[in-house]
Amino acid sequence: MIIVLFFIAHWYLSLFGQTFFLHRYGAHKMFTMSKSWEKFFYIFSWITQGSSYLNPRAYAILHRMHHAYSDTEKDPHTPHFFREVFTMMMHTKRVYNDVLNKRVTVDEKFDRNFPEYPVIDRIADSWFTRIGFGVAYTAFYVAFATHWWMFLLLPIHYLMGPVHGAIVNWAGHKYGYRNYNEKDHSKNTFILDLLMMGELFQNNHHHRGSRPNFAAKWYEFDPTYPIIILFDKLGIIRLARVRRK
Ligand SMILES: [Zn+2]
Ligand SMILES: [Zn+2]
Repeated sequence: MIIVLFFIAHWYLSLFGQTFFLHRYGAHKMFTMSKSWEKFFYIFSWITQGSSYLNPRAYAILHRMHHAYSDTEKDPHTPHFFREVFTMMMHTKRVYNDVLNKRVTVDEKFDRNFPEYPVIDRIADSWFTRIGFGVAYTAFYVAFATHWWMFLLLPIHYLMGPVHGAIVNWAGHKYGYRNYNEKDHSKNTFILDLLMMGELFQNNHHHRGSRPNFAAKWYEFDPTYPIIILFDKLGIIRLARVRRK
């Protein structure tokens, strides 16, 4: 039971760090927040991603490229040029590492206006820290697992960020329905996206990239959006008025 709760908590907290902080704030600037809240969520997204930490600058650049070149050869992750998800993810990893280590020239319009916290990057991106998180997940399982099959979940903890990325980037541009006739292959996979906290409304999101609510029709529900509204009401973030809907 404890293991299942730990798995669910890690899944959703890490996903929240990705969709709320890295995606909607870092890459799209759908809302603003103070420097101290930015540092808080920077650290939150690091701790919750743990061993699979994603650098916010590299995330923002890759994601902006994904929107600009969606489902073309310049898209860092389109399922339409790869036969299976693993090779797509290996390609994404290569582009990510090139951008992260500044081995490629990045279009200036993608390479600005993202959260930065170099001290955290140095700590979070070291092998020492990544392996440390891996050891901690494993120790938790050794202490609390009651069935052998539970250990099969461990690799998902080690690779939480890439697992989420693989699901969204593959399924979100391949399976589901469309509300808008975008030029790309973006799809809405579910009408109630509890699994990926709204990230699987790719078609809605590609239609209006700056809209904080990824659900568009009355019957669709994006679980992250009410949290954004709550944070706005609490003064943690500030949504731009025109974009409130
Ligand atoms: Zn997309
Ligand atoms: Zn986006």
